[in-house]
Amino acid sequence: MADGERKRTLEVARRASPGGELSGRTVLIVDDDPAHVRHVREGLTPQGYVFKEANDGTQALSAIRQARPDLILMDVEMPGLGGVEVCRIIKANSGEDGFGFIPVILMTARQAAGKVEGLELGADDYLVKPFDMLELSARVKSMLRLKVLQDALVEKNRELDKANKELARRREELLALSRTDALTGLFNRRYFEERLHEEFARSRRYGSPMSLVMLDIDHFKRINDTFGHPFGDQVLKVVAQTARTRLREVDLLARYGGEELIAILPETGPVDALKVCERVREAIASLGLEPPGADGKAEPVRLTASLGVATVPSADLASAEALLMAADTSLYVAKGAGRNRVHQHAA
Ligand code: GH3
Ligand code: MG
Ligand code: MG
Ligand code: MG
Repeated sequence: MADGERKRTLEVARRASPGGELSGRTVLIVDDDPAHVRHVREGLTPQGYVFKEANDGTQALSAIRQARPDLILMDVEMPGLGGVEVCRIIKANSGEDGFGFIPVILMTARQAAGKVEGLELGADDYLVKPFDMLELSARVKSMLRLKVLQDALVEKNRELDKANKELARRREELLALSRTDALTGLFNRRYFEERLHEEFARSRRYGSPMSLVMLDIDHFKRINDTFGHPFGDQVLKVVAQTARTRLREVDLLARYGGEELIAILPETGPVDALKVCERVREAIASLGLEPPGADGKAEPVRLTASLGVATVPSADLASAEALLMAADTSLYVAKGAGRNRVHQHAA
């Protein structure tokens, strides 16, 4: 039905039943006896429902797919696919990706026979022919009210589900943000400290090696002074990315302070840690950054960094704090020895 036509139908229905909140709801009547279909329809007409009709089970199923009725009134005894069988199919497809909940009232000529069967298969109500029109009307109304409530519940659940997912997503986002350094995108110091203690404890428990690297850009003040603070920021970002791409996925790299980075290298002994540090140092020393406003005409800016590294297990490093101190001291030994170098804490 076209939208305009549907609206008009609903409007007519509303006028036919002023104030009826159920008018305009779609009722599917299924019976192999056309006279009975007409009879039921006439009995319910004053309520302003929209009617769909089917004369057998197969027709009923295709009408359900097309019209998504709010209620089904269905004869039990039909040739071919009977009412009980159709009811079973409807109820088996009552999930959100199927028909959803559609109340079914079965109608039968047989006194009592099949009643238990019908209700057990999920028919929501049952009428024995011939039935009183007032009773039919009352049962239809109460089932439609149930359907309206159920629809509202499904809708509310869907909204709740959506809101919950959004909440979980934002919580994740916030968590990531609380661990991230805004300028470099690396982890921040707080998160590093959290993880250092975890990783230290893990290394000790399993007796596996772990190294800690501290990196400080050499003469960074000069870069700021010569080219300005924004360029200094740019350099910091590039250095952070350069170091990040030289580490393994499992290594944790954080910004420790102004122009100091720190890295936890799990499962890494002194020989490998030294190799990693040299690789990072070389990568930074080979960077050439275009100074601001140079338009390719000026020499690229060169920079270097110094690194200190310490590894556990080590006889003199009994705590995470001692390990941190050893990496820091090593860094200052590297600075004192002339910068652009790696110094390793002697085990
Ligand atoms: P050294 O070789 O001894 O490390 O010399 P340095 O100049 O790098 O060392 P120092 O610690 O004296 O100076 C670090 C400078 O880093 C000082 C500070 O202005 C700058 N700095 C710290 N944080 C930032 C930042 O976020 N952006 C920029 N552009 N500069 C920063
Ligand atoms: Mg029949
Ligand atoms: Mg420095
Ligand atoms: Mg510094």
